[in-house]
Amino acid sequence: MVKFFNIKNKSGMDISDTEHLFHDLGLFAQKKLGFNKPPALNLMSDGKNAMKPLGKTAYYDPQGMSVTIYTDGRHTKDVLRSLAHELVHHTQNENGMLNDSGYHGEGYAQKNKNLRQSEKEAYLDGNMCFRDWEDQLKQEKPTIYNEWRINNMSTKDWKNKELMENLNSKFGFKMNLKALNENKQETVLEEEDKKPDEDGDGVPDYADEKPGEDDNQESDEDSKEKMDESRLYKIIKQEVLKQLRKK
Ligand SMILES: [Zn+2]
Repeated sequence: MVKFFNIKNKSGMDISDTEHLFHDLGLFAQKKLGFNKPPALNLMSDGKNAMKPLGKTAYYDPQGMSVTIYTDGRHTKDVLRSLAHELVHHTQNENGMLNDSGYHGEGYAQKNKNLRQSEKEAYLDGNMCFRDWEDQLKQEKPTIYNEWRINNMSTKDWKNKELMENLNSKFGFKMNLKALNENKQETVLEEEDKKPDEDGDGVPDYADEKPGEDDNQESDEDSKEKMDESRLYKIIKQEVLKQLRKK
């Protein structure tokens, strides 16, 4: 993952699945809006604020050059839209166009002419920047960002697919994901893979309670996903080795 922002996540929101979207949007916005340096990005939680229907959602600090977003109870897409808005203010600040003199209190967007102009621009450019980013992402990776829910793909499969696409584009490796879906996946193991864990259940032979069987056999989705994952890594390893030998 290319880390565009230095994210300080004090919000308690789990962003392990969505962090790449923040960085991707940041990179896109930089090209589109033309700011130089990424601002610091703080994700915050404020319980009291979250209770208010019109509570604050985000702000830009021109001195500290940081964007702060309140994330409580918000959809990721909404949080990202806030980010795009604040990045316009960051651009204005870098260009000396964020006129932060004059009235700053309640109703500044109506009472302070300069800030009203900055705000207009942030709503228009921020939302359009977000929209353009979203659309190009969906066109680029329709399965991952658009249709994966429709296709009933599990999050794990979705991640795996993304990993495959990255490997593909970075190293030119062609992966065969079909192997994952076959019931009898007789993947030919390398000799050194076979020895320490003969039955391939992830438990080394010296600790194996059920030789020839999967010690971790459980019927729940979780264990199935774990198995899928370890099998996936084996498949990747084999593919990479195979293709390296060819080169
Ligand atoms: Zn604003």
